[in-house]
Amino acid sequence: MAAVICLSAFSCAPSKKKAFQDEANAFFEQYKGTFSGSEKIYEYSESGSFYINKPVTKDEAFDKKLTEFCQNAKDEFLKSAKSAQDTLFIASKTYNPGQDIFGTELIVQKTLSRNVSNEYYYFNSKEFSKDLSFNALVNAKRTLTSDKSKMKKADIKKLKSSKNAQLLYTDTGIDVIYNAGDILPASDGEVRISVPYGELYPVLPDAIKENTEQPERTIDTTKKLVALTFDDGPHSKYTAQILDTLEKYGQVATFFDVGNRVADNAEVTIRAKAMGCEVAGHSWSHANLQTSSKEKIEQEIEKADSALEAVLGEKPYMMRPPYGAVGKTLLSVSDEYLIGWSVDTLDWKSRDAEKVIASVKSERTLDGDVILMHAIYKSTADAVDKLVPWLINNGYQLVTVSELINYKYNDILETGKYYDANYFNGKAKPDYN
Ligand code: ZN
Repeated sequence: MAAVICLSAFSCAPSKKKAFQDEANAFFEQYKGTFSGSEKIYEYSESGSFYINKPVTKDEAFDKKLTEFCQNAKDEFLKSAKSAQDTLFIASKTYNPGQDIFGTELIVQKTLSRNVSNEYYYFNSKEFSKDLSFNALVNAKRTLTSDKSKMKKADIKKLKSSKNAQLLYTDTGIDVIYNAGDILPASDGEVRISVPYGELYPVLPDAIKENTEQPERTIDTTKKLVALTFDDGPHSKYTAQILDTLEKYGQVATFFDVGNRVADNAEVTIRAKAMGCEVAGHSWSHANLQTSSKEKIEQEIEKADSALEAVLGEKPYMMRPPYGAVGKTLLSVSDEYLIGWSVDTLDWKSRDAEKVIASVKSERTLDGDVILMHAIYKSTADAVDKLVPWLINNGYQLVTVSELINYKYNDILETGKYYDANYFNGKAKPDYN
Protein backbone atom coordinates (compact mmCIF):
# COMPACT_ATOMS: atom_id res chain seq x y z
CA MET A 1 0.00 0.00 0.00
CA ALA A 2 1.29 3.43 -0.95
CA ALA A 3 2.09 5.84 1.78
CA VAL A 4 -0.13 8.89 2.03
CA ILE A 5 1.91 11.88 1.06
CA CYS A 6 0.76 15.20 2.29
CA LEU A 7 0.59 17.79 -0.46
CA SER A 8 -1.44 20.60 0.94
CA ALA A 9 -2.53 22.07 4.20
CA PHE A 10 -5.99 20.72 3.60
CA SER A 11 -4.96 17.09 3.09
CA CYS A 12 -2.60 17.31 6.07
CA ALA A 13 -5.53 17.90 8.37
CA PRO A 14 -6.39 14.21 8.96
CA SER A 15 -2.85 13.34 10.07
CA LYS A 16 -2.71 16.37 12.36
CA LYS A 17 -6.04 15.27 13.69
CA LYS A 18 -4.64 11.79 14.21
CA ALA A 19 -1.64 13.25 16.00
CA PHE A 20 -4.01 15.17 18.25
CA GLN A 21 -5.93 11.99 19.06
CA ASP A 22 -2.75 10.04 19.77
CA GLU A 23 -1.50 12.78 22.05
CA ALA A 24 -4.81 12.84 23.92
CA ASN A 25 -4.86 9.04 24.28
CA ALA A 26 -1.31 9.01 25.63
CA PHE A 27 -2.36 11.69 28.13
CA PHE A 28 -5.39 9.65 29.24
CA GLU A 29 -3.28 6.51 29.55
CA GLN A 30 -1.21 8.17 32.31
CA TYR A 31 -4.27 8.71 34.45
CA LYS A 32 -6.10 5.43 34.16
CA GLY A 33 -8.02 4.60 37.31
CA THR A 34 -9.82 1.43 38.34
CA PHE A 35 -13.27 2.81 37.58
CA SER A 36 -14.21 2.41 33.92
CA GLY A 37 -17.52 4.23 33.26
CA SER A 38 -16.69 7.28 31.19
CA GLU A 39 -17.81 9.69 28.52
CA LYS A 40 -15.53 11.17 25.85
CA ILE A 41 -16.17 14.65 24.49
CA TYR A 42 -14.03 15.45 21.52
CA GLU A 43 -13.48 18.09 18.86
CA TYR A 44 -10.66 18.89 16.47
CA SER A 45 -11.09 22.45 15.25
CA GLU A 46 -9.16 25.41 13.88
CA SER A 47 -10.60 27.48 16.72
CA GLY A 48 -9.18 25.16 19.40
CA SER A 49 -9.22 21.39 19.94
CA PHE A 50 -10.34 19.56 23.03
CA TYR A 51 -10.59 16.00 24.29
CA ILE A 52 -12.38 15.40 27.57
CA ASN A 53 -12.66 12.06 29.31
CA LYS A 54 -14.96 12.35 32.27
CA PRO A 55 -16.49 9.65 34.47
CA VAL A 56 -20.11 8.60 34.43
CA THR A 57 -20.92 7.21 37.87
CA LYS A 58 -24.73 7.13 37.65
CA ASP A 59 -24.82 9.33 40.75
CA GLU A 60 -26.77 12.05 38.99
CA ALA A 61 -25.81 14.97 41.21
CA PHE A 62 -22.15 14.02 41.08
CA ASP A 63 -22.16 13.49 37.30
CA LYS A 64 -23.85 16.85 36.86
CA LYS A 65 -21.18 18.58 38.95
CA LEU A 66 -18.42 17.05 36.80
CA THR A 67 -20.23 17.85 33.55
CA GLU A 68 -20.64 21.47 34.59
CA PHE A 69 -17.00 21.72 35.55
CA CYS A 70 -15.85 20.32 32.17
CA GLN A 71 -18.27 22.57 30.30
CA ASN A 72 -16.94 25.66 32.06
CA ALA A 73 -13.33 24.61 31.49
CA LYS A 74 -14.09 24.11 27.78
CA ASP A 75 -15.85 27.51 27.44
CA GLU A 76 -12.94 29.26 29.22
CA PHE A 77 -10.43 27.52 26.96
CA LEU A 78 -12.26 28.33 23.71
CA LYS A 79 -12.22 32.03 24.61
CA SER A 80 -8.40 32.01 24.44
CA ALA A 81 -7.78 29.32 21.78
CA LYS A 82 -6.69 30.49 18.33
CA SER A 83 -5.72 27.35 16.37
CA ALA A 84 -6.14 23.59 16.25
CA GLN A 85 -2.78 23.34 18.03
CA ASP A 86 -4.28 25.08 21.04
CA THR A 87 -5.56 22.08 22.98
CA LEU A 88 -7.45 21.19 26.13
CA PHE A 89 -7.21 17.69 27.61
CA ILE A 90 -9.17 16.68 30.66
CA ALA A 91 -8.41 13.23 32.03
CA SER A 92 -10.15 11.75 35.04
CA LYS A 93 -9.21 9.18 37.60
CA THR A 94 -12.17 7.88 39.53
CA TYR A 95 -12.28 5.74 42.66
CA ASN A 96 -15.22 3.84 44.09
CA PRO A 97 -14.33 2.59 47.60
CA GLY A 98 -17.90 1.86 48.66
CA GLN A 99 -21.26 1.43 47.00
CA ASP A 100 -22.39 5.04 46.49
CA ILE A 101 -19.08 6.76 47.20
CA PHE A 102 -16.92 8.17 44.42
CA GLY A 103 -13.79 10.27 44.41
CA THR A 104 -12.65 11.83 41.15
CA GLU A 105 -9.55 13.79 40.28
CA LEU A 106 -9.59 15.76 37.07
CA ILE A 107 -6.30 16.56 35.41
CA VAL A 108 -6.63 19.56 33.13
CA GLN A 109 -3.88 20.14 30.58
CA LYS A 110 -4.10 23.28 28.53
CA THR A 111 -1.80 24.23 25.65
CA LEU A 112 -2.15 27.81 24.44
CA SER A 113 0.41 29.23 21.97
CA ARG A 114 2.67 26.28 22.92
CA ASN A 115 2.52 27.09 26.64
CA VAL A 116 1.50 23.97 28.54
CA SER A 117 -0.18 24.17 31.95
CA ASN A 118 -1.46 21.42 34.22
CA GLU A 119 -4.11 21.82 36.89
CA TYR A 120 -5.62 19.31 39.29
CA TYR A 121 -9.12 19.28 40.76
CA TYR A 122 -10.69 16.94 43.29
CA PHE A 123 -14.34 15.96 43.64
CA ASN A 124 -16.16 13.67 46.05
CA SER A 125 -19.68 12.35 45.66
CA LYS A 126 -20.17 12.29 49.43
CA GLU A 127 -19.32 14.99 51.94
CA PHE A 128 -16.78 14.10 54.61
CA SER A 129 -18.14 13.92 58.13
CA LYS A 130 -16.44 16.22 60.60
CA ASP A 131 -14.87 13.26 62.41
CA LEU A 132 -13.60 11.70 59.21
CA SER A 133 -11.98 14.85 57.84
CA PHE A 134 -10.47 15.66 61.26
CA ASN A 135 -8.98 12.20 61.63
CA ALA A 136 -7.67 12.11 58.05
CA LEU A 137 -5.99 15.51 58.50
CA VAL A 138 -4.42 14.64 61.86
CA ASN A 139 -3.20 11.33 60.50
CA ALA A 140 -1.65 13.04 57.47
CA LYS A 141 0.03 15.61 59.72
CA ARG A 142 1.47 12.79 61.85
CA THR A 143 2.90 11.18 58.72
CA LEU A 144 4.38 14.48 57.56
CA THR A 145 5.87 15.39 60.94
CA SER A 146 7.48 11.97 61.34
CA ASP A 147 9.77 12.92 58.43
CA LYS A 148 12.28 15.25 60.08
CA SER A 149 13.91 16.34 56.81
CA LYS A 150 10.54 17.50 55.51
CA MET A 151 9.63 19.22 58.77
CA LYS A 152 12.74 21.38 58.62
CA LYS A 153 11.39 22.90 55.42
CA ALA A 154 7.75 22.89 56.45
CA ASP A 155 5.72 25.89 57.42
CA ILE A 156 4.56 24.62 60.82
CA LYS A 157 2.01 27.37 61.29
CA LYS A 158 0.32 26.57 58.00
CA LEU A 159 0.54 22.86 58.70
CA LYS A 160 -1.13 23.38 62.09
CA SER A 161 -4.16 25.07 60.60
CA SER A 162 -4.01 23.30 57.22
CA LYS A 163 -7.25 24.87 56.09
CA ASN A 164 -6.23 24.49 52.48
CA ALA A 165 -5.84 20.74 52.45
CA GLN A 166 -8.11 18.92 50.02
CA LEU A 167 -9.45 15.45 50.65
CA LEU A 168 -10.22 12.72 48.14
CA TYR A 169 -11.81 9.29 48.52
CA THR A 170 -9.58 6.77 46.72
CA ASP A 171 -9.86 2.98 46.49
CA THR A 172 -7.56 2.36 49.47
CA GLY A 173 -7.82 5.43 51.68
CA ILE A 174 -8.30 9.14 51.90
CA ASP A 175 -5.74 11.25 50.11
CA VAL A 176 -4.87 14.52 51.84
CA ILE A 177 -3.54 17.00 49.31
CA TYR A 178 -1.72 20.26 49.96
CA ASN A 179 -1.11 22.55 47.00
CA ALA A 180 2.46 23.30 46.00
CA GLY A 181 3.83 26.01 48.30
CA ASP A 182 1.16 25.55 50.97
CA ILE A 183 3.29 23.82 53.60
CA LEU A 184 6.55 22.95 51.83
CA PRO A 185 8.47 25.13 49.37
CA ALA A 186 6.71 25.33 46.01
CA SER A 187 9.62 23.52 44.36
CA ASP A 188 8.61 20.38 46.28
CA GLY A 189 5.34 20.38 44.33
CA GLU A 190 1.99 19.13 45.53
CA VAL A 191 2.17 17.23 48.84
CA ARG A 192 -0.09 14.20 48.83
CA ILE A 193 -0.49 11.77 51.71
CA SER A 194 -2.62 8.64 51.57
CA VAL A 195 -4.29 7.71 54.84
CA PRO A 196 -5.38 4.06 54.66
CA TYR A 197 -9.04 3.44 55.48
CA GLY A 198 -8.02 1.00 58.24
CA GLU A 199 -6.49 3.85 60.24
CA LEU A 200 -9.79 5.73 60.07
CA TYR A 201 -11.97 2.73 60.83
CA PRO A 202 -14.11 4.09 63.72
CA VAL A 203 -15.22 7.14 61.71
CA LEU A 204 -15.65 5.65 58.21
CA PRO A 205 -18.96 5.83 56.34
CA ASP A 206 -20.71 2.43 56.49
CA ALA A 207 -20.31 1.81 52.76
CA ILE A 208 -16.51 1.94 53.11
CA LYS A 209 -16.44 0.21 56.50
CA GLU A 210 -18.03 -2.84 54.88
CA ASN A 211 -15.03 -3.16 52.57
CA THR A 212 -12.38 -2.41 55.20
CA GLU A 213 -10.76 -4.83 57.58
CA GLN A 214 -10.86 -3.60 61.17
CA PRO A 215 -7.30 -3.26 62.47
CA GLU A 216 -6.27 -4.37 65.96
CA ARG A 217 -5.94 -0.80 67.17
CA THR A 218 -7.09 2.53 65.79
CA ILE A 219 -7.56 5.83 67.52
CA ASP A 220 -11.20 6.56 68.11
CA THR A 221 -11.62 10.30 68.58
CA THR A 222 -15.25 9.84 69.51
CA LYS A 223 -13.92 8.49 72.83
CA LYS A 224 -12.21 10.34 75.66
CA LEU A 225 -8.44 10.14 75.27
CA VAL A 226 -5.92 9.77 78.10
CA ALA A 227 -2.19 8.99 78.19
CA LEU A 228 -0.59 6.84 80.88
CA THR A 229 3.12 7.52 81.30
CA PHE A 230 5.72 5.51 83.20
CA ASP A 231 9.04 7.01 84.26
CA ASP A 232 12.31 5.70 85.68
CA GLY A 233 12.22 2.22 84.06
CA PRO A 234 12.68 0.05 82.25
CA HIS A 235 12.20 -2.62 84.93
CA SER A 236 12.47 -6.28 83.97
CA LYS A 237 9.54 -7.32 86.17
CA TYR A 238 7.19 -4.34 86.57
CA THR A 239 7.49 -2.88 83.08
CA ALA A 240 6.67 -6.40 81.87
CA GLN A 241 3.63 -6.57 84.18
CA ILE A 242 2.39 -3.19 82.90
CA LEU A 243 2.85 -4.36 79.30
CA ASP A 244 0.95 -7.58 80.04
CA THR A 245 -2.03 -5.50 81.22
CA LEU A 246 -1.88 -3.13 78.24
CA GLU A 247 -1.62 -6.04 75.84
CA LYS A 248 -4.56 -7.82 77.43
CA TYR A 249 -6.80 -4.81 76.74
CA GLY A 250 -5.21 -3.74 73.43
CA GLN A 251 -4.02 -0.40 74.83
CA VAL A 252 -0.78 1.59 74.78
CA ALA A 253 1.22 3.90 77.05
CA THR A 254 4.38 6.00 77.00
CA PHE A 255 7.59 5.04 78.78
CA PHE A 256 10.23 7.60 79.76
CA ASP A 257 13.28 5.45 80.38
CA VAL A 258 16.44 6.23 82.30
CA GLY A 259 19.29 5.69 79.83
CA ASN A 260 21.59 3.72 82.12
CA ARG A 261 18.88 1.09 82.74
CA VAL A 262 18.07 0.40 79.10
CA ALA A 263 20.82 -2.02 78.06
CA ASP A 264 20.10 -4.36 81.01
CA ASN A 265 16.36 -4.32 80.28
CA ALA A 266 16.39 -4.40 76.51
CA GLU A 267 13.71 -7.08 76.22
CA VAL A 268 10.85 -5.10 77.81
CA THR A 269 11.99 -1.95 75.99
CA ILE A 270 11.76 -3.66 72.61
CA ARG A 271 8.44 -5.24 73.55
CA ALA A 272 6.91 -1.87 74.50
CA LYS A 273 7.85 -0.36 71.16
CA ALA A 274 6.59 -3.38 69.23
CA MET A 275 3.22 -3.05 70.98
CA GLY A 276 2.81 0.51 69.68
CA CYS A 277 3.86 2.21 72.92
CA GLU A 278 6.00 5.31 72.76
CA VAL A 279 9.45 4.88 74.30
CA ALA A 280 11.38 8.04 75.07
CA GLY A 281 14.21 9.31 77.25
CA HIS A 282 14.36 10.47 80.88
CA SER A 283 18.06 11.48 80.82
CA TRP A 284 21.02 9.11 81.24
CA SER A 285 21.34 9.18 85.05
CA HIS A 286 18.08 10.78 86.23
CA ALA A 287 19.85 14.09 86.57
CA ASN A 288 18.14 17.36 87.46
CA LEU A 289 18.73 19.40 84.30
CA GLN A 290 17.11 22.62 85.45
CA THR A 291 20.33 24.48 86.23
CA SER A 292 22.81 22.20 84.50
CA SER A 293 25.27 23.52 81.95
CA LYS A 294 24.60 23.19 78.25
CA GLU A 295 27.34 20.54 78.00
CA LYS A 296 25.94 18.45 80.86
CA ILE A 297 22.42 18.62 79.43
CA GLU A 298 23.53 17.60 75.96
CA GLN A 299 25.56 14.73 77.39
CA GLU A 300 22.67 13.42 79.53
CA ILE A 301 20.25 13.52 76.60
CA GLU A 302 22.65 12.18 73.99
CA LYS A 303 23.73 9.21 76.12
CA ALA A 304 20.15 8.26 76.93
CA ASP A 305 19.13 8.58 73.29
CA SER A 306 22.04 6.43 72.15
CA ALA A 307 21.14 3.72 74.69
CA LEU A 308 17.58 3.64 73.34
CA GLU A 309 18.76 3.72 69.75
CA ALA A 310 21.04 0.75 70.43
CA VAL A 311 18.09 -1.47 71.38
CA LEU A 312 15.26 0.09 69.34
CA GLY A 313 17.08 0.97 66.14
CA GLU A 314 16.02 4.60 66.22
CA LYS A 315 16.49 7.64 68.40
CA PRO A 316 13.57 8.89 70.47
CA TYR A 317 12.17 12.28 69.52
CA MET A 318 10.92 13.28 72.94
CA MET A 319 11.99 13.20 76.58
CA ARG A 320 10.67 13.90 80.03
CA PRO A 321 13.03 15.98 82.16
CA PRO A 322 13.59 14.25 85.54
CA TYR A 323 11.53 15.89 88.33
CA GLY A 324 9.81 17.93 85.61
CA ALA A 325 12.67 20.34 86.16
CA VAL A 326 12.99 22.61 83.16
CA GLY A 327 15.19 25.66 82.80
CA LYS A 328 16.02 28.07 80.02
CA THR A 329 19.16 26.19 79.02
CA LEU A 330 17.28 22.90 78.60
CA LEU A 331 14.62 24.61 76.51
CA SER A 332 17.23 26.16 74.25
CA VAL A 333 19.60 23.23 73.74
CA SER A 334 17.21 20.35 73.35
CA ASP A 335 16.04 19.55 69.87
CA GLU A 336 13.59 17.11 71.43
CA TYR A 337 10.02 17.56 72.55
CA LEU A 338 9.89 18.08 76.32
CA ILE A 339 6.95 16.33 77.94
CA GLY A 340 5.51 16.87 81.41
CA TRP A 341 2.23 15.62 82.90
CA SER A 342 -1.09 16.85 84.24
CA VAL A 343 -2.09 14.23 86.83
CA ASP A 344 0.47 13.15 89.44
CA THR A 345 -0.42 9.87 91.19
CA LEU A 346 2.46 10.26 93.71
CA ASP A 347 2.93 6.50 93.32
CA TRP A 348 6.61 6.80 94.28
CA LYS A 349 5.57 8.21 97.65
CA SER A 350 2.60 6.05 98.60
CA ARG A 351 3.85 2.73 97.14
CA ASP A 352 0.25 1.67 97.63
CA ALA A 353 -1.81 0.42 94.68
CA GLU A 354 -5.13 1.46 96.24
CA LYS A 355 -3.91 5.01 96.80
CA VAL A 356 -2.64 5.24 93.21
CA ILE A 357 -6.03 4.06 91.92
CA ALA A 358 -7.86 6.48 94.22
CA SER A 359 -5.77 9.44 93.04
CA VAL A 360 -6.67 8.75 89.41
CA LYS A 361 -10.35 8.15 90.15
CA SER A 362 -10.59 11.36 92.14
CA GLU A 363 -10.09 13.48 89.00
CA ARG A 364 -13.32 14.97 87.66
CA THR A 365 -12.33 14.01 84.13
CA LEU A 366 -9.20 12.57 82.59
CA ASP A 367 -10.04 13.49 79.01
CA GLY A 368 -6.85 14.96 77.56
CA ASP A 369 -4.74 14.23 80.64
CA VAL A 370 -1.25 12.79 80.96
CA ILE A 371 -0.97 10.61 84.07
CA LEU A 372 2.40 10.30 85.77
CA MET A 373 3.45 6.95 87.23
CA HIS A 374 6.68 5.01 87.64
CA ALA A 375 7.54 1.66 86.12
CA ILE A 376 9.73 0.46 89.01
CA TYR A 377 7.18 -0.33 91.75
CA LYS A 378 5.06 -3.43 92.22
CA SER A 379 2.30 -1.24 93.70
CA THR A 380 2.14 0.80 90.49
CA ALA A 381 2.03 -2.26 88.22
CA ASP A 382 -0.75 -3.69 90.43
CA ALA A 383 -2.66 -0.40 90.23
CA VAL A 384 -2.40 -0.48 86.42
CA ASP A 385 -3.98 -3.96 86.39
CA LYS A 386 -7.15 -2.36 87.77
CA LEU A 387 -6.92 1.12 86.26
CA VAL A 388 -6.81 0.05 82.62
CA PRO A 389 -10.15 -1.83 82.64
CA TRP A 390 -11.68 0.94 84.80
CA LEU A 391 -10.65 3.58 82.23
CA ILE A 392 -12.02 1.52 79.34
CA ASN A 393 -15.32 0.97 81.15
CA ASN A 394 -15.55 4.71 81.69
CA GLY A 395 -15.28 5.50 77.98
CA TYR A 396 -11.57 6.23 77.67
CA GLN A 397 -9.13 5.12 75.06
CA LEU A 398 -5.47 5.00 76.09
CA VAL A 399 -3.14 6.74 73.67
CA THR A 400 0.53 7.70 73.58
CA VAL A 401 1.60 11.24 74.45
CA SER A 402 2.20 12.28 70.85
CA GLU A 403 -1.15 10.81 69.83
CA LEU A 404 -2.82 12.78 72.62
CA ILE A 405 -1.20 16.03 71.47
CA ASN A 406 -2.08 15.36 67.82
CA TYR A 407 -5.61 13.98 68.20
CA LYS A 408 -6.89 15.59 71.39
CA TYR A 409 -5.31 19.02 71.00
CA ASN A 410 -5.08 18.99 67.18
CA ASP A 411 -1.55 20.22 67.66
CA ILE A 412 1.91 19.47 66.32
CA LEU A 413 4.83 18.88 68.68
CA GLU A 414 7.44 21.59 68.71
CA THR A 415 10.83 21.95 70.33
CA GLY A 416 11.73 24.81 72.67
CA LYS A 417 8.69 24.48 74.89
CA TYR A 418 7.60 22.31 77.79
CA TYR A 419 4.28 20.48 77.54
CA ASP A 420 3.16 20.74 81.15
CA ALA A 421 -0.06 20.62 83.18
CA ASN A 422 -1.27 23.94 81.81
CA TYR A 423 -1.00 22.61 78.30
CA PHE A 424 -2.70 19.28 78.92
CA ASN A 425 -5.56 20.74 80.85
CA GLY A 426 -6.14 22.97 77.88
CA LYS A 427 -6.17 26.09 80.01
CA ALA A 428 -3.14 27.84 78.64
CA LYS A 429 -0.22 27.12 76.38
CA PRO A 430 3.11 26.97 78.23
CA ASP A 431 5.24 30.03 77.71
CA TYR A 432 8.89 29.57 78.59
CA ASN A 433 10.30 31.51 75.65
ZN1 ZN B 1 11.95 10.24 87.14
